[in-house]
Amino acid sequence: MDKNTENLISVFIDENYDACTECGHSYRDDEEHFIGYGENGDLKSSCNACSSNIKVVLLKREFYRRPYKVPRHDAVLWRYMDFSKYVSLLSTSSIYFARSDTFEDHFEGAQGIKSNREQWDRHHLDYLERAITYPPDGGKTALTSEEIKSEAQRLLKQLHSSGKFGRERTYINCWHENEHESEAMWRLYSSYINNAVAIKTTYKRLSSSLEERKNIQIGMVEYLDFRKQFSGINSAFWRKRKSFQHEREVRAVYFEFENKNLGISIPCNLPTLIEAVYISPKAPEWFKRVVDDVNIKYGLNITVSESELNEEPFY
Ligand SMILES: [Zn+2]
Repeated sequence: MDKNTENLISVFIDENYDACTECGHSYRDDEEHFIGYGENGDLKSSCNACSSNIKVVLLKREFYRRPYKVPRHDAVLWRYMDFSKYVSLLSTSSIYFARSDTFEDHFEGAQGIKSNREQWDRHHLDYLERAITYPPDGGKTALTSEEIKSEAQRLLKQLHSSGKFGRERTYINCWHENEHESEAMWRLYSSYINNAVAIKTTYKRLSSSLEERKNIQIGMVEYLDFRKQFSGINSAFWRKRKSFQHEREVRAVYFEFENKNLGISIPCNLPTLIEAVYISPKAPEWFKRVVDDVNIKYGLNITVSESELNEEPFY
């Protein structure tokens, strides 16, 4: 299978993840279903009952709930950045994913707050002890209760170190979901002076622009009160503290087992990604021409819009 086809299938699976494309049935946990081509060569995701609609089965999957919600396909996403970052996006034709432990928010990948750690440990120890006592084969373990406790302790330690391991292997690229341009985001994510731009895209555009989509998940961040909740082992990179709620973040997350770089660039189709570029409300007049020039230099036909914040009021 060539890379392009593989990518199309990955995007298809991601966008049609939860339900049968034939009858609309929502998959249940562990439910087996099929991905393949129908009569006309179109991709389908099908439950058992509809499986005769698939003429070529590509793969059989078991459903598991994702730890994040996917935005609507037409959800509008923004990324605010300084001009230098924009030029870098164009010149490399790739999106930069930063390693999670390089983010300013040191809660990236966190399970919870430290003062609640004992409660978290207790919960997982209980769970592990039960799982060791009653293994999945339906029998009961031959281990003594002391051995069960020490084995559970060992696994708990592993959980702790896998949390740290995950932070160093998880790469993230962030977007802000909003129908409109945001004054606050200009302030937060650009120098808000004369050299910033905002890229406007949609979930669908972002999803299909990435040329190595296979191991990338794109979803919405959920905001938690960490004083009362934990993020959950598989959800850590999809949860942030409530104090970040204004970010309305949609993120692309990539896990790289081997890599130890501080960032990874993933090739991206720029005309697919970029619906429009907005220039900073504080930009001088000449700045729009510079952005136009650099787009032309990289062969891109992109609409460059003045900031909506600069529209004139009447009273
Ligand atoms: Zn069906």
